[in-house]
Amino acid sequence: MKEYKFLENYVVKEYWKMELGQSATDTLTLTPEIVADLTEIQVLGEVKVNLIWEKAEKFLMLNLSVLGELNQECSKCLKVTLHKIENESEFEFSQSVEDGDDRIKITSDLAVNLIQPIIDTFVTAIDQFPVCKKSCLGLCPTCGVNLNDNPDHKKANTNHFISEEVDNKPKIV
Ligand SMILES: [Zn+2]
Ligand SMILES: [Zn+2]
Repeated sequence: MKEYKFLENYVVKEYWKMELGQSATDTLTLTPEIVADLTEIQVLGEVKVNLIWEKAEKFLMLNLSVLGELNQECSKCLKVTLHKIENESEFEFSQSVEDGDDRIKITSDLAVNLIQPIIDTFVTAIDQFPVCKKSCLGLCPTCGVNLNDNPDHKKANTNHFISEEVDNKPKIV
């Protein structure tokens, strides 16, 4: 993994000085190369990372959202279609972080490392079983024909569909 100083050493000095309850926003743009380097996922175009910082009593709250696009193969019919990556998560940053604390450390230079929060928010947004459409019919289990393109295939080949089940039954010798 290459070093990305603007993510690894993101300065929060201004946000730390804010009044209690005050908030500020920032947007980061990640190129497909950076995203691939961090997550091994190939996206289409830039990924926008939106940051909303809010000052709390002894910590900073962050609402982090990611927005991007990628091509994914349908888990039923294998057709490649465009999918949106859209997700948001909340994080807390503090200067003193104790063991077992979920908060992330703010360094003495008032900077934080945003790499892990971005990776976590991004990766959990990706569908492990994407479909080209909710009603996707998938492929014929016997001959592999795409049933979305051949709606009459099932009707015309009823034996074709039953045969698989019959073949799987234990044979009586
Ligand atoms: Zn499909
Ligand atoms: Zn078939």
